[in-house]
Amino acid sequence: MKYINTANKESGCIFCNALAKKDGSDNLIVLRGKRAFIILNKFPYTSGHVMVAPLIHSATLEDLDAPTRAEMMELSTLCMTTLRKIYSPQAFNLGANIGAAAGAGVPGHVHMHIVPRWNGDTNFMTAIADVRVLPEDLNDTYKRVKEYIVPLDGAQA
Ligand SMILES: [Zn+2]
Repeated sequence: MKYINTANKESGCIFCNALAKKDGSDNLIVLRGKRAFIILNKFPYTSGHVMVAPLIHSATLEDLDAPTRAEMMELSTLCMTTLRKIYSPQAFNLGANIGAAAGAGVPGHVHMHIVPRWNGDTNFMTAIADVRVLPEDLNDTYKRVKEYIVPLDGAQA
């Protein structure tokens, strides 16, 4: 599966840039943990496509400490719990592209993708023309995820 950031013209790291801003529908950060955070994908593959990344700018999981990796997995699981409540997906894709050759849109800052899936959701337009129709307005997604997410201990939503 490809995760594409086709319109990423922002200078610098989109994750570090988002972290420097106030949380809201502008920076799309849903929740900050102690070591990692949850952010909506600005170019979602499906409605509810979110990402989990460490607070520190690091290109690969091996460079993170174990508690950070563990929190990334906990936050990924929290995303699935939350997205099930909102979108009732039939399945999920959960994964990371480590490095540009693997298709990482932001190779400098490692991140996990959590993508809700439904039978038959593969978008014909995406496959043919690399054009994607946004399934839901991002502001609406942001509001819904914020409303339904139940933070882990020590995390702020
Ligand atoms: Zn970064």
